[in-house]
Amino acid sequence: MSIQQNLLKIKSSLPSQVTLVAVSKTKPVADLMEAYDSGQRIFGENKIQEMTEKWEVMPKDIEWHMIGHVQTNKVKYMAEYVSLIHGVDSLKLLEEINKQAKKHNRVINCLLQIYIAEEETKFGLDEKELEELLNSITFKSLENINVIGLMGMATFTDNQVQIKKEFQHLKSIFDKFTIHNSQFTTLSMGMSGDYQLAIDCGSTMVRIGSSIFGGRS
Ligand SMILES: *Cc1c(COP(=O)(O)O)cnc(C)c1O
Repeated sequence: MSIQQNLLKIKSSLPSQVTLVAVSKTKPVADLMEAYDSGQRIFGENKIQEMTEKWEVMPKDIEWHMIGHVQTNKVKYMAEYVSLIHGVDSLKLLEEINKQAKKHNRVINCLLQIYIAEEETKFGLDEKELEELLNSITFKSLENINVIGLMGMATFTDNQVQIKKEFQHLKSIFDKFTIHNSQFTTLSMGMSGDYQLAIDCGSTMVRIGSSIFGGRS
């Protein structure tokens, strides 16, 4: 199946309230343009340099989402154009995003990454750290960032019961914090292998790569 066919098939299966991020990491611009020509406008990348190279040569009505782990010293390279940063996991990083956004007279949307998996290698905050961050005086003083929700990644496993448990956990944290944070609108969870389950558990944004663009080497 072509990229266009994959994309249309996935899009037709998504409920209207769910946003599709086409994860194009490692893929050439020609592949992204095929998705663009099929109507896709939101792309997700996990390396700032690669994303910036693509941003420079591609149409300017694309929304670029950074879905990977962000190093503080690289925020400056995407501050001019990035639409949403999914993987924010510290106040220090938020402060840097705020500082760089200010230089460009922008407010940058961010998601806070929550640790839900049983894998040491994954990043994120736990519920207590999330609460501390949102209640901190520093956080409240940041005017050039807008935290619009949460993001999480389930454990890499075939065990659907476990994945479902992790997604439900994230959704319960999201609901709890939405009560006090009216700007919380977005719950980014679900990838090629588990997005249907994620949607059943309340996801509003799915990040799908290989089911659109094919496997990555
Ligand atoms: C690569 C990646 C995805 C997409 O993974 P697929 O399994 O190819 O759909 C989603 N989210 C993050 C954070 C990723 O790094």
